[in-house]
Amino acid sequence: MSKQELMDEIVSEVQVCRKCRLWQYARNPVPGEGSLEASLMLIGEAPGYREDLEGRPFVGSAGKLLDKLISGITLRREEVYISNIVKHRSLKNREPKADEVEACTAYLDRQIQIIRPKIIATLGKHSTRYILSKVNIEVDGLTAVRGRGYKKNLLGLPVTIIPTFHPAAVLYNPAYRSGLEEDFQKIREELEKKV
Ligand code: SF4
Repeated sequence: MSKQELMDEIVSEVQVCRKCRLWQYARNPVPGEGSLEASLMLIGEAPGYREDLEGRPFVGSAGKLLDKLISGITLRREEVYISNIVKHRSLKNREPKADEVEACTAYLDRQIQIIRPKIIATLGKHSTRYILSKVNIEVDGLTAVRGRGYKKNLLGLPVTIIPTFHPAAVLYNPAYRSGLEEDFQKIREELEKKV
């Protein structure tokens, strides 16, 4: 099967998924979007209000900030792949529960295996905790791991994992903004390195 066919299969499964309770509250699933040849994969937490309406990741105000950060490292949004650890919005945007993350992340794992990115940037504590747990790193708090590059074997693939803030957290607390921008420069440096 081609990469596109494999990804289409995931999208179809997510559209009818009932593996956790979140589908009940959502208008649309948000499986993810972007280039299947992306060197950079960005992984957030869960769809928000606008994402749920449009069925696309990071299209609200946090998405606008993310677009700026992506263009700030001379990439276009279509050149990266953007996804979340859970694919349906929760009621009132509450944080995803452990059983929801456990139920949903098999989709994300398959997306990573299809795209085979050079770099995964985890946006916020939930996606950071999930991805680093897969390489046996326990995360107490985001600040301890943020901005570091973890060169690891993830799902059988060599990848550099760079945790950073979620753009929504930066909108809520602008003091984080310079850290988020620094971390994106780190992403850029890693992308420019020869393998
Ligand atoms: S959030 Fe994930 S596991 Fe839960 S219903 Fe949606 S697609 Fe399925």
